[in-house]
Amino acid sequence: MLKKDKIVQLKNPIGKTFRIVREQYLREDIPCHSKLCLSDCIEKSKQDYRLPNKDRASHYIIPDCLLAKNYMELLEMPEFRGIIFLQTVTYFIQHEGSMRLHKSLMSIVNNPFKESAIFYNEFQRYAFVERKKGESIIDWRRRSVYNATVWYYNHLAGQTSFVILSEDPKMKELYEGETPNIFVLTFKEYLKTFFSEWEGAFNLYESIKDALEERSETDEIAGYLPNEVLEAGIKSGRFVEGVLNVNRYCANSEAFLKRSGLSSKQGGEESDILIPGQANRNRAIHGDRIVVELYPKSQWKSRIFVLVKENETKDVEDNSSSNKMPTGKVVGILQRNWRDYVASFGTDQQVKVTGKAEKVIVRPWDWRIPKIRLSTKLVGAFKDHKIVVRIDSWEVDSQYPNGHFVRSLGKAGELETEIKTLLIENNLNVGPFSESILKEMPVNNEEEKWTMTPEEIKKRRDLRESHLIFSIDPIGCEDVDDTLSIRKIEDNKLELGVHIADVTHFVQPGSLTDVEARERSTSVYLADRRYDMLPSVLSGDLCSLLSGVDRYAVSVIWKMNENFEVEDVWYGRTVIRSKYKLFYEIAQKIADGLDNEEIMANVSEMAQYDKKDIELRIEELRWSIIKLMEIARHFKAKRTEEGAVVLEGSEVKVEMQEEKIKNVIPKKSLEIHETIAECMIFSNHWVAKKIFQSFPSHALLRHHPPPRQEHFDSLRKCAASRNFTIQTESNAELAASLDSCVDIDDPVVNKLMRILATQAMSNAAYFSTGSLNRELFNHYGLGLEYYTHFTSPIRRYADVVVHRCLMAAIDETGKDNLMNNADLQTSAEHMNSKHRAAQQAQKQSQELFQSLFFKEKSDDETCVVDAVVLQLRNNGFIVFIPRYAIKGAVFLKNKENLVVEVSNKGETQWVAGTLNLKENSVLVQTGSKRQEYTLLQHVTVRINVENYHGHALQLSLSLVSNKPFMPDVEDEKNSENSVVQSKSELIKAVKEANKSFWTDDISLGPNYTNWKEEFSQTEESKSDYHTYLALTELNKLDI
Ligand SMILES: [Zn+2]
Repeated sequence: MLKKDKIVQLKNPIGKTFRIVREQYLREDIPCHSKLCLSDCIEKSKQDYRLPNKDRASHYIIPDCLLAKNYMELLEMPEFRGIIFLQTVTYFIQHEGSMRLHKSLMSIVNNPFKESAIFYNEFQRYAFVERKKGESIIDWRRRSVYNATVWYYNHLAGQTSFVILSEDPKMKELYEGETPNIFVLTFKEYLKTFFSEWEGAFNLYESIKDALEERSETDEIAGYLPNEVLEAGIKSGRFVEGVLNVNRYCANSEAFLKRSGLSSKQGGEESDILIPGQANRNRAIHGDRIVVELYPKSQWKSRIFVLVKENETKDVEDNSSSNKMPTGKVVGILQRNWRDYVASFGTDQQVKVTGKAEKVIVRPWDWRIPKIRLSTKLVGAFKDHKIVVRIDSWEVDSQYPNGHFVRSLGKAGELETEIKTLLIENNLNVGPFSESILKEMPVNNEEEKWTMTPEEIKKRRDLRESHLIFSIDPIGCEDVDDTLSIRKIEDNKLELGVHIADVTHFVQPGSLTDVEARERSTSVYLADRRYDMLPSVLSGDLCSLLSGVDRYAVSVIWKMNENFEVEDVWYGRTVIRSKYKLFYEIAQKIADGLDNEEIMANVSEMAQYDKKDIELRIEELRWSIIKLMEIARHFKAKRTEEGAVVLEGSEVKVEMQEEKIKNVIPKKSLEIHETIAECMIFSNHWVAKKIFQSFPSHALLRHHPPPRQEHFDSLRKCAASRNFTIQTESNAELAASLDSCVDIDDPVVNKLMRILATQAMSNAAYFSTGSLNRELFNHYGLGLEYYTHFTSPIRRYADVVVHRCLMAAIDETGKDNLMNNADLQTSAEHMNSKHRAAQQAQKQSQELFQSLFFKEKSDDETCVVDAVVLQLRNNGFIVFIPRYAIKGAVFLKNKENLVVEVSNKGETQWVAGTLNLKENSVLVQTGSKRQEYTLLQHVTVRINVENYHGHALQLSLSLVSNKPFMPDVEDEKNSENSVVQSKSELIKAVKEANKSFWTDDISLGPNYTNWKEEFSQTEESKSDYHTYLALTELNKLDI
């Protein structure tokens, strides 16, 4: 081994540079990572093969230092495989680039789909070149890159060619043509050679190039305190760190620092810090990790308490409220959390022609993100498109951040463009599954039927003959991931079984499918479509527990006494064959005593039995369903005793009744729905106990923290206005007081109380048991000490992790594959954020369809509805509309300071007057009238649709009358009926309209059908089930 000294410059985590002299040992056995390797350098080093063989890549790519720094995001595109990052380049990125850049590099190398690697050329005896006396560092880097490439080429015995990517003319001059099959190309030449048709890549290349030319060298960090000062300040308590959260309703005026992390771990419930105005925000962008310095108490301000329209861009000041809160200014940024933003060119575009590229200001779709300045030549081509942009920098003294164009999403206003917008804005990557993933999948088609193997069957408990197993789902469900069984065993005992699809049998840890599923974390359900977490051969076929077919399952089986007390539990892998695939309505009817003829007509599986047998079969099934209901009632009563809260999600209720779900969701919820849900909760709970017991420091559980007391303010106020008292100290008290808030004359009141209680709740979240204090494990909403997700491994990755954990707990195998606490916690946080993102996208897609629906009906009476006052403000109030389950603001005072007066005829007009906010009401006084609005009062409003350029369509409400819409309050049943009807119309109406939404283009976009096929989505007729499940879950607060 050869020893050399080398001077290295390093950057410490807070950005300070220092030089060290390092002894460097040159070795001959540095692994090349290539599948083409002819020596055994991989085996020796026990490293992975990463670089592909010839059929996956015709050449390897070696970017030089500057190219890697400037064009990393191009290298990140999935089309580029087989990239070798030399150590020289990696050091350069660490030293000259940003943390973000280094992260990108590592994510390319760690992404198995990219088949890329780092090669430690400076440790390899023959790849290394020593810096000559007087040689500049730039010259040395060039030589280093070239020399390492030559070594590589020789090491692989010339089996493949190499492309050195470099924008450096000197590089080309020196080395192009020096070695056959080593090419030196600029990125543009490379694209022309290998991807000549790929316009998107050329556009991105050009726009990065434009942005680079425009970028000034001024320091972006000017105006912030040095990191050392920030760290010391945070430690001493003078500064506070957290995440910047901009108020979307007044994005220019109001933002908050949200204290982050598991701060509840320290027990303190510290409040957020107000950051008023742009100057105090100091170029921080929504989502950034910031450091804030608090102002002295005398300078604290109160948050804005008036309703604000989103298009009002002027600064809003509101000091009417006396609730001052901690106020501060941003003094430093710990981490930029910039992502891809969707934006549009303004209609009032100021275009400055600077010779090469135009400077334009684009408006992000997300109200919370500031306008961005781009240098681009592409304005003309994409003027009416939605485009994706990235922010590069925000210099001190500059009004806007600088960014560059990435790609177009298509014409604004087309449905597909709008849906893509939602996916990007929520950071959801849900393209079609790659070929390499599909190759990992088992085959099951006409020519080649998938079958179970005898060896595998032998390893499992075979329940096919012994147990009557069946499923109960919504009509049309194709992906059955849970089934049940119940039977009598010896001594009058009962045996309950829950049998879940065995996804982990098909998805091996670390496989490409596993990596992809983990990244997605969840299937994504939008109003009109869904994106699967797993390829359809699993989710719709081999892991779907259909009736009459043999399937692998993971079962939990409990032995219970007559009082439904568990005496024993068995967990394990099984083989099952479901006997019946029932749907909710028929299952309920069977329990209620439906006659045999009707049952035979509705349960197709009965046809296989002969006449003598049928009666027996029916009674057997009927007994099972009734017994399940009985057991579930018992479970529920027990949980309620422990404090489970029955809640109601506002938006959700409506969403549940959309489209074909109309056929599935009965007008009144059936008991059987609860029965199934209760059995699933029960098994999730038992699995949680088991895995926590086996792996106390690294089991994946789900907790639901108790809500902050101050979040109940709205609920308490509303309740008080009707003389109800709400106890919120514990979940049991809350549940009991919600039950007592019943107004016989106004059935909507109880529903509203539950909606307000739901809004006060925290989010349930996954965590690793080693990362949280024991007393924080509880699930508040369900009233359970331990909880996890086990019952839906097809559509949630958490369940996949839990299945592996459970398997390792029962048979010790696979223990080595489990994640340790740190990795599991990271994974849990990733899943939490993906779940939130998926829900957010779902909600936004519902709103999109809602807006389109109301836009078409704008002159219709459909838009005039009853609404209930929920919260009061200084210039109006917030209402809830039971018919559509929409919440929104109603203004009583406008910008000109005029107030709304309702005439005796019931017409509204804007007149001069005053408005006073009181404890339980808002009082409007005009010359002739005095009109008061109280909490829970019914009023009539009109739903309008507002179109703000570049943003999502938005519903707005205006007051029609201060009286209820109908003379009598609609009774619950009636109103639900009308919801079902109008909601079922909604998506259909929108989709059938072949007219334009915003433009004259076809509403669904020209590529709708192709696109749907390409993304291998389930037909809509079959997608109800998932929408239903997802929504049920939302409805239950995503338990
Ligand atoms: Zn090798």
